[in-house]
Amino acid sequence: MRRVTVLGATGSIGLSTLDVIRRHPGRFGVYALTANASVEEMASLCREFLPEYAVMVEAGAAVELADRLSDLPQISVLQGEAGLCEVAASEAVDTVMAAIVGAAGLPPTLAAVRAGKRVLLANKEALVMSGQLFMDAVAASDAELLPIDSEHNAIFQCLPADRVRDPRGAGVTRILLTASGGPFRNHSADALKTVSPAQACAHPNWSMGQKISVDSATLMNKGLELIEACWLFNTDPSRIEIHVHPESIIHSMVEYADGSVLAQMGSPDMRTPIANGLAWPERIEAGVAPLDLFAIGRFHFERPDLDRFPCLRLAAEAFQAGGTAPAVLNAANEEAVAAFLAGTLGFTDIPVIIERTLAATEVVAGDSFEIIFAKDAEARRYAREQIRLHTV
Ligand code: NDP
Repeated sequence: MRRVTVLGATGSIGLSTLDVIRRHPGRFGVYALTANASVEEMASLCREFLPEYAVMVEAGAAVELADRLSDLPQISVLQGEAGLCEVAASEAVDTVMAAIVGAAGLPPTLAAVRAGKRVLLANKEALVMSGQLFMDAVAASDAELLPIDSEHNAIFQCLPADRVRDPRGAGVTRILLTASGGPFRNHSADALKTVSPAQACAHPNWSMGQKISVDSATLMNKGLELIEACWLFNTDPSRIEIHVHPESIIHSMVEYADGSVLAQMGSPDMRTPIANGLAWPERIEAGVAPLDLFAIGRFHFERPDLDRFPCLRLAAEAFQAGGTAPAVLNAANEEAVAAFLAGTLGFTDIPVIIERTLAATEVVAGDSFEIIFAKDAEARRYAREQIRLHTV
């Protein structure tokens, strides 16, 4: 039986992970569940899955959860980042689902990597921020890093298992990274100025957390994924071509030297890549609706529009700049998206804040996690100030 820690258990990926686990009670056991502050959701998940540990990042939430679970003394409630890292690295765990949103996920994901776990990586921001350092930690610990982002999981499935870090050696000529285009694919530049958070979070094909929904709408999500793919598959952006595919049925493709293009397809449901990661190299039932290609009828493809969606360009430029630039990009994006969701920043101001923060923050070599965290903090301070100036 595989013992699993689910970081970010109350989120969209966390709940989908638990749904797959629920379908295979003899195969997976839940060691720990974590959340930030959602006490009620955690209490009910703990009652169903009976983990050994439940972690709440917020101190008050941990106290409240312990109180609610006082009739279940076998569940220990921990608090804060130290608690997250403890349940990610524990000897009792085989598999860690990294599904915290944003930079907050880096410390526990890294703890899981350093402890040599099977790490199911949904939390792309952790890898984007720390790129080389993160991959070096994977190599040093022999952790098994499996991509959960649907596109990267698709690419993983289309590559020979022993050549994931050396696709060129396997004859791969290009990676075709697909994108849905988000809810505003056909909006004019003018119409984008007035879109609301609710409209941005109403993704046409996927049901996801708020932050990634906004990232999908700005195409920053595809920018983060471009960087993620470069690190996971040891590739440079010139070999990755983004294809907007509004049906979200082909989750990405790999082109080989002989002209073959392998695609992974499926209904847009995150339980497919999650089940793939949990059971890999085996295949297990995931509760996903079978694909009905007759009902879908046609596939469409177009190039992304970098003028209307400049976040994709900014991400590519940050990766090219290297060093701490992707950490700055990510931090500024997190701050700008939070302000947009709070109603204090316009949708088209998101890339403005990111571009200003990138321009104002010196790029240095990302030689240590301390430097990465310091740049993350510096970029957040600058971005918050820019948001404040922008909105007064
Ligand atoms: P959600 O917002 O739905 O869930 C986020 C989870 O992280 C919640 O459990 C939340 O707890 C927890 N959390 C939030 N802030 C913190 C914090 N500061 N410290 C610790 N835990 C925290 O996000 P998603 O599930 O949509 O996304 C999770 C990750 O997976 C993201 O990196 C995203 O990019 C990636 N991903 C998501 C996909 C999707 O379909 N949703 C697809 C591919 C990748 P609480 O409930 O208490 O706030």
